Amino acid sequence: MLKKRFAFAPWCATILLLASCGGDSKQGAPSASSVGKTYNWKLVTSWAPKFPVLGEGAEKFAQWVDSASGGRLKIKVYGAGELVPGLEVFNAVSAGTAEMGHSAAYYWSGKVPAAPLFASFPFGLNAQQFNAWYYGGGGKELWEEAYAPHGVVPFLCGNTGVQMGGWFNKEIKSLDDLKGLKMRIPGWGGKVIAKAGGSAVTLAATEIYTSLERGVIDATEWIGPYHDYKLGLHKVAKYYYYPGWHEPGSALELIVNKKAFESLPSDLQEIIRTAAARANIWILSEFEAQNNVYLQKLVSEEKVQLREFPKDVLMELKRLAKEVAEEETAKDPLAKKAYESVLAFKKNILAWNKMSEDAIRPYLE
Ligand code: CA
Repeated sequence: MLKKRFAFAPWCATILLLASCGGDSKQGAPSASSVGKTYNWKLVTSWAPKFPVLGEGAEKFAQWVDSASGGRLKIKVYGAGELVPGLEVFNAVSAGTAEMGHSAAYYWSGKVPAAPLFASFPFGLNAQQFNAWYYGGGGKELWEEAYAPHGVVPFLCGNTGVQMGGWFNKEIKSLDDLKGLKMRIPGWGGKVIAKAGGSAVTLAATEIYTSLERGVIDATEWIGPYHDYKLGLHKVAKYYYYPGWHEPGSALELIVNKKAFESLPSDLQEIIRTAAARANIWILSEFEAQNNVYLQKLVSEEKVQLREFPKDVLMELKRLAKEVAEEETAKDPLAKKAYESVLAFKKNILAWNKMSEDAIRPYLE
């Protein structure tokens, strides 16, 4: 069920103010013909229609752009399959079938080898670190470079936070328990499971429940307590594992057709940037605010068995994840460059985290 919590915040007035007073360069200033023009755009998503948090976030983004632009940029949001299938979002935006999309970059790794680095990869960055890399560490520019050949402009637009490790029908007490394990886990995480002796399956969200129920798979990951509860995964698997080593913070993207974006007057471009940044923090905050509420429901009402992966299992998965990342990024110069950028940034931020986040953490209890 959707909560209608959107209200016209004073914040929007600030966007309007910033947008209209911003120092437009001559090149980007609205032309006489574009001022007062109304644009009607389509935004396709990889989420089921009205999907909590992710679909809601896309709807809010569209409302914020409408309010801030005084109705000059109207965006209609489509759920997966309503206009194009969920995994066709990038192609649709690249081709201009839709001007915009909301999705996650790792879905396009077949087309853009660097893509997982702009969403999440095993033992990669958490949400706060990703934001810092994107806004202040060169991530934004690398992401733009990766999508430029496809005529697509990316904007960071949400994060799930640290995900859960997933649902298992047997306990994982040692590395041996991963051997022969059939798990629904996409992307580089799936390649790590395969290296550990299991087999990885990619299934759409709609197929996960029945596949687990019928024993087609032994385990699955999805997102976190809020969404996993809604999918009902506690009814078909006994053990719920943490942490989500494979997705320590999955970034989401707003993608815009480059030609369409460049055709907008600069104030509308700025409104898109600002609304994407607002949706970025709204989506992460919503996950963070809801996850423990649903985790407690799962544990106390549904009697879910919560388990932490053993440390030696995580350390071995981490070793294998490094191999996977190196193999995958060796295939493409830009993927290699982006991976090196992430590693250098991570070294830097982890050194600071030791004296900041990590040092204060025990005292926040
Ligand atoms: Ca996931």
